[in-house]
Amino acid sequence: MTAMPGDRAPQRGIRRATRIDAPVHVDVAIVGAGACGLTTALMLHDAGIDCVVLERDAVPSGSTALSSGFIPAPGTLAQRAQGIADDSPARFATDIQAKAHGRAAPVLLQAYARSIGPALDALQQRHGFDWQVLDGFLYPGHTRHRMHTLPPKTGASLMARLQAAVEAAGIPVLTQALVDTLWFDTNDRSLGVGYRRPDGQEETLGCDALVLACNGFGGNAAMVRALLPEMADAAFGGHAGNDGSAIRWGEALGARLRDLGGYQGHGSWVTPQGALMSWAVMMEGGVQVNGAGRRFHDETLGYSEAAVHVLAQPGGIAWNVFDASLLDLARGFPDFCDAEAAGALRRCESVSALAACIGCDAVVLQATLDAMRSTGPQPDGRRFQRGLDAPYFAVKVTGALFHTQGGLDVAPDMRVLRADGAPLPNLLAAGGAAGGVSGDAVWGYLSGNGLLSAVAGGFLAAATAAALVRQKDMQ
Ligand SMILES: Cc1cc2nc3c(=O)[nH]c(=O)nc-3n(C[C@H](O)[C@H](O)[C@H](O)COP(=O)(O)OP(=O)(O)OC[C@H]3O[C@@H](n4cnc5c(N)ncnc54)[C@H](O)[C@@H]3O)c2cc1C
Repeated sequence: MTAMPGDRAPQRGIRRATRIDAPVHVDVAIVGAGACGLTTALMLHDAGIDCVVLERDAVPSGSTALSSGFIPAPGTLAQRAQGIADDSPARFATDIQAKAHGRAAPVLLQAYARSIGPALDALQQRHGFDWQVLDGFLYPGHTRHRMHTLPPKTGASLMARLQAAVEAAGIPVLTQALVDTLWFDTNDRSLGVGYRRPDGQEETLGCDALVLACNGFGGNAAMVRALLPEMADAAFGGHAGNDGSAIRWGEALGARLRDLGGYQGHGSWVTPQGALMSWAVMMEGGVQVNGAGRRFHDETLGYSEAAVHVLAQPGGIAWNVFDASLLDLARGFPDFCDAEAAGALRRCESVSALAACIGCDAVVLQATLDAMRSTGPQPDGRRFQRGLDAPYFAVKVTGALFHTQGGLDVAPDMRVLRADGAPLPNLLAAGGAAGGVSGDAVWGYLSGNGLLSAVAGGFLAAATAAALVRQKDMQ
């Protein structure tokens, strides 16, 4: 196996055999019970294909449950029900590619943009997901209101809904099953997986097709240090199980990797509470100032690259500054309410009180706030519609890593590609385990690209795995 940083990850490997003696054989084995793995499982169930989901944790969470749970999709039933009629996969694809400065994998981008709407509609029509579209503001780079969410607008509610649907469908989710071995024959055909139980016992499951839905390497500090050095010391907001397993397996198999420098950062990670404050507040007129009371970037360009800008400030911190009307907006997000309840919000009646809170010169801060009253472009290009009015509110934030976007290179049908670009016969990867559509840098991430890859990728992987199983049945 090629040396990769990150040996903190569990021992794993690729093993070869002509056949394996597994006590149980399923049509499709899925590694990981996050949004990707559970969407794949539901779509397979709907297609009449048996599957088993293997999950390392006792209670599935993944990064999905830690996320905000917002999924962008064009042309859905939910969009139409809210009167948003002028969105399309083509427009969505253009927005994704514009954010990635033309560096998003083009074929994958088209596949995701076309599939995510049908995927959300299928979850709604077949499994009762009651999607709502956030239509109060636009996330950076989105030209239409297309961010779908489930009440009460959290990743935990998305995970709970997926788990309820999987349970109702009777799909087996094997928890406390840490997959550490992938079995292949000499033609690189997947035969099954080996997984470890908490007591150390190794068990084997045979399958006709294997889907890796175990996310990326954000939880593997050594891999982050080597591949994303600017995030080496940043807080990680995702799930510890994102340990780079898929990449390590892919490396050992001779699979092609893609866009390892791409990731979702966030410039609004409330510190020290460790919670997300929605970027909606920045998009609607809030600003970030550093410890000297100065703005330092155009906040409307994106929260992902903002992580790097914030980390470059003294102490790696900034203050989100806003006023009462923006506080109302912020309070519409449960994550913010949690942070507020944990003491993150500061209220300041005047500029001098705000300066004292931040620890900066009041004259400098006053000049920063005065500059916002100019309707012309700021030196960084941002244009303000209005200034902020007292009382002021402030929340201390830092830059964080949320998840990685680089991973196994896949065909648009989610089959993993070898180094020469040919697909492996029955190994698929989707969600954070596969390379995403954000190019190879932090600024390429358009809000929602993470769950887009997980849900659209799961939808596509299920269709491909179902076709592979049917083909095998006919042989
Ligand atoms: C704070 C935060 C907010 C976010 N908000 C959004 C948002 O609003 N919209 C958006 O699009 N994206 C968001 N993201 C990103 C999003 O959470 C991820 O892109 C998405 O959840 C990935 O889904 P997944 O199914 O691929 O991975 P996960 O949800 O991480 O699931 C992978 C699962 O695989 C399991 N696993 C890993 N290795 C093994 C193994 N060897 N054996 C068995 N099981 C294994 C893990 O335990 C985990 O349960 C956010 C991320 C964070 C951290």
